[in-house]
Amino acid sequence: MADLEGIDAVLLDLDGVLYVEGELLPGADEAVKGLRDAGMALRFVTNTTANSRAQTLEKLRDFGIELEEDELVTPAALARRHCEDAGHRTVALIMNDEVKADFEGLEDADTDVDAVIMGDLGEQFGFHILNEAFRLVMDGAELVALQKNRFWLTADGLSLDAGPFVAAIEYATGKDAFVVGKPAAGFFEIVLADLGSDRDSVAMVGDDIETDIGGALDAGIAAVLVRTGKYREDFVRDSGIEATATIDSVAELPELLGS
Ligand SMILES: [Mg+2]
Repeated sequence: MADLEGIDAVLLDLDGVLYVEGELLPGADEAVKGLRDAGMALRFVTNTTANSRAQTLEKLRDFGIELEEDELVTPAALARRHCEDAGHRTVALIMNDEVKADFEGLEDADTDVDAVIMGDLGEQFGFHILNEAFRLVMDGAELVALQKNRFWLTADGLSLDAGPFVAAIEYATGKDAFVVGKPAAGFFEIVLADLGSDRDSVAMVGDDIETDIGGALDAGIAAVLVRTGKYREDFVRDSGIEATATIDSVAELPELLGS
């Protein structure tokens, strides 16, 4: 069973942990600073697929959170790596134009593609685009999903994330998507390899009981749940997943980790 003894590297989820609805959560910047001062290695690990890597970096820096570019792990970077490994050159990018910038080097097309890569289109998801993706996968393209989150918290309440749209294509084609974002095992393995840390010295911090907490625990690393963002007591109860620790917000993290 994972515990919080001897943690020297922390994986921080972004949306719902450091900020909510575009506002920095109180004390989040100080918490990140506190972890750095204590010598913790940090990785900022997000499933956010609505923004490009450059936009996410800028957002964090605007909040006063200092980070190096290689400390940010996004699903787009992992999907691109997967395409390189699989030899995919021509792909259909189902995502907003900003995120397409993260796929430089791959050809974006709408016929004869090696893979369909599904990110987030928010309110632009509709019959036409889903039917196009469906036909390409039926023609043999691999279905790659940047993430498969069920929902997220927006200003007017809980809203559909990209996962339900990925599930629609899976259902129609009878094929499972290759998911690169949390909670995929590959996601945590790549981050661990990059950190060069033993899994028992790493802790994941997140607000999503399934993707953050469940995914980390499945990968054998400790998981700290925060009661911010999409956290709901009943979701946690219904999930049957037990976090290593639960705190009110990321502001409590340095103290929890004894730093
Ligand atoms: Mg989150």
